Amino acid sequence: MTVNLSAIKPIAGTDVAGKRVLLRLDLNVPIKDGGVTDTTRLSRILPTLQDLSERGAKTIILSHLGRPKGHPHTEMSLKPIAKALEQELPSASVHFADECVGETAYNAIQALQNGSILLLENIRFHAGEEQNDPDFAKALAELGDLFVNDAFSVSHRAHTSTAGLAGLLPKYAGPSLLAEIQALTSALETPKRPVAALVGGAKVSTKIPVLTHLIEKVDKLIIGGGMANTFLFAQDIAVGKSLCEPDFADLAKDILAKAQETSCEILLPIDAVIAGSLEPNTDTLTVNIQDVPNDKMILDVGPQTLAKLTEHLHHCKTLLWNGPLGAFEIAPFGEATFSFAKEAARLTQSGEILTIAGGGDTVAALNQAGVSQQFSYISTAGGAFLEWLEGKELPGIAALTQ
Ligand code: ADP
Ligand code: MG
Repeated sequence: MTVNLSAIKPIAGTDVAGKRVLLRLDLNVPIKDGGVTDTTRLSRILPTLQDLSERGAKTIILSHLGRPKGHPHTEMSLKPIAKALEQELPSASVHFADECVGETAYNAIQALQNGSILLLENIRFHAGEEQNDPDFAKALAELGDLFVNDAFSVSHRAHTSTAGLAGLLPKYAGPSLLAEIQALTSALETPKRPVAALVGGAKVSTKIPVLTHLIEKVDKLIIGGGMANTFLFAQDIAVGKSLCEPDFADLAKDILAKAQETSCEILLPIDAVIAGSLEPNTDTLTVNIQDVPNDKMILDVGPQTLAKLTEHLHHCKTLLWNGPLGAFEIAPFGEATFSFAKEAARLTQSGEILTIAGGGDTVAALNQAGVSQQFSYISTAGGAFLEWLEGKELPGIAALTQ
């Protein structure tokens, strides 16, 4: 989506002292045996909480966890997260209320001191949350003076805590949501050119809208991973036992034709690392893309492709990346992904390119390559990130601009 950034008010410049700030965060983090097992998501929003606390706000956090479908479930309680926040924020006092609306929540808020933080129980314990129910929105709105969305990753949903509340209270964007919008805007709307997008991953069927949108936006589109196979197949190149979706060959052809109209250069693999099966320590071969035998599968792009892509990367000012080049989870099929990632990281650090990456497996691959800290921006937003790449309007972001 295209966002009028100037229509979004940042909470950073707003007086919050003594105010009840309803803050939507995404605290949907993995929990095991009552403890948080991965604090990556928490550490991203700590500065937001720290800042509101230091500026004397009464911060009231709204979040979901899991898919309770409108009913309370003990194992989806946010209580363990309150404990984790308390540990991460020693300077602020963190409280928990086991209801997100009504008297329990109201009383807990009344007892808050300026600078303290209250986490309300899982908002998806109420069916009204996912239904964007006006009565539920009203009940929540009564608890706060202003609304802040700092959860980009849930902003593709038109729920009460992302959309409904924004219609009832003065509304603001939190810093991590703003950073994500700015990163995506600088990659897709106002990029330094040439801009390249690398789209890889498993299946073309899941990324048709992404590809269709990107060919209108970028100068070069690199297609890698399993999805490249369908494009090769569409051009009568034999792909053997590779992951391939013949039913999507016509769509692949359409995308290639449209790319010509929009002057988007499409880059497909010219060689491949192949094997008889996808398992560790199998025998591998590197072949030209025309020479994939019937009984083998393409599991990574080959060294010639990697060299060609790297050469293109050197001429680009912006790179947007979603989807690995190969089946990186199993060695040695992550080689191209890791090498390309390292080169992109190096160019980012020397100021030659802006790099933005997202997607669950992509982030895992970049972590494995050890370069996630060296990219300009890494999105952990999953679905919301992909919907943005598809050019869709995100209701939670739109609600902040209206
Ligand atoms: P993301 O989660 O970053 O959006 P995807 O889910 O679309 O990425 O794709 C990631 C998956 O694609 C990985 O599990 C990877 O093993 C798989 N993959 C990449 N290349 C191939 C290939 N040539 N054959 C089979 N699977 C592949
Ligand atoms: Mg994935």
